[in-house]
Amino acid sequence: MSNYEHSFGLDQNRETKRETPAPASAVATNLQHPSYEPPVGFNAVQPATHRASTVIFPNVAAMRSRDWRQKNGYTYGLHGTPTTFTLEARLAAIEGARHCILCPSGLSAIALVDLALVGQGDAVMLPANVYGPSRELAERLLTGWGITVQIYDPLDLVATRAAITQHTRLMWLEAPGSVTMEMPDLVALIRLAREHSVVTALDNTWSAGIALKPFDLGVDISMQALTKYQSGGADVLMGSVTTRDDALHERLLYAHMRLGLGVGGDDASLVLRGLHSLALRYGAHDASARRVAAWLQTCPEVQTVLHPALPGSPGHANWVRDCSAAAGLFSFTFKPWVQEGQVDAFVDALQLFKIGYSWGGPVSLVVPYDMKGMRGDSWAYASPVVRLNIGLEDADDLIADLAQAMRACLR
Ligand SMILES: *Cc1c(COP(=O)(O)O)cnc(C)c1O
Repeated sequence: MSNYEHSFGLDQNRETKRETPAPASAVATNLQHPSYEPPVGFNAVQPATHRASTVIFPNVAAMRSRDWRQKNGYTYGLHGTPTTFTLEARLAAIEGARHCILCPSGLSAIALVDLALVGQGDAVMLPANVYGPSRELAERLLTGWGITVQIYDPLDLVATRAAITQHTRLMWLEAPGSVTMEMPDLVALIRLAREHSVVTALDNTWSAGIALKPFDLGVDISMQALTKYQSGGADVLMGSVTTRDDALHERLLYAHMRLGLGVGGDDASLVLRGLHSLALRYGAHDASARRVAAWLQTCPEVQTVLHPALPGSPGHANWVRDCSAAAGLFSFTFKPWVQEGQVDAFVDALQLFKIGYSWGGPVSLVVPYDMKGMRGDSWAYASPVVRLNIGLEDADDLIADLAQAMRACLR
């Protein structure tokens, strides 16, 4: 009998006695109780993928004394496994947080923050350029539950201050805002919220915890769609909610438990694997995106390139002050003489850029967005806005693709 067989509970004697099979009932029981011992000294680079709903207690006393909120042990798969706790600890370390909670998607992480912190009679503030489904959640569901939703202009501090009421409990921040890529003055907004005892929650997906350190800026809660850069493969959905504040974490954790928002070990493993290359990929996306953005600025058809690292882009000075890098995501607009139908034809003519939602994955993506519904009359640029996710292709090939689509559709 080899060690390998021993460690996986294969009993050589039982294997050779095949002519007298065990009764079906014993097989059914034995299948659930193999003599498996985890291999001692198997110190692999990747943590094991633990899958569990049930976690077995040695006795009733151990079961009764187990507190599901404490992450020094295990209670039930929904409350965490060694795999999800490992991922939570690593994500908290990246952002400089004390606590991390995983959710099945970025949007469910947003919902968790909303449902944990605001209730009937309260008000929540969302920037006008907030991630679209977050606004849908607020305006379509939260309002129905007696919660007031206040949409604010993240670049207008005077109006934002005036919008805060005694009922305001939560202010969402996004840096930069979705699609418009406007970089708000986070320091000033956080100070404003603090002055009114309003909790701040930053959608930190764009920075991946690399370009921006939310807790050093004073943010109370950071939320991320791990679906984007942490996964990196365009094949996992997951979200995180991190904080340094013990009391806030407890409120979030209770809501997380009551809503049943746990994640499975397989998905957590995929994200853990992605984390190893997160910084390298982020840097590569950033470098390529800046090259493509700089090239677009030279195109006579292009009116504005909305990329926070480019001088002249809205909130660029805030990016310089608060960020150390930029993601591979940015937007641009065409000159007014380019018709809306031509923009669609341009997007259709792209070969390497695929049409699809999400970002942070290996393949470059493109989506045209109508800005009228999003930013209203305060939108100073042309509409539609074309948003690019720069993937891991060669930047020169991406530029050539954009150039051929412009030649085909815009002249
Ligand atoms: C994608 C995204 C989300 C939501 O993430 P999902 O995992 O797709 O639900 C939230 N915020 C921002 C800024 C995003 O881009």
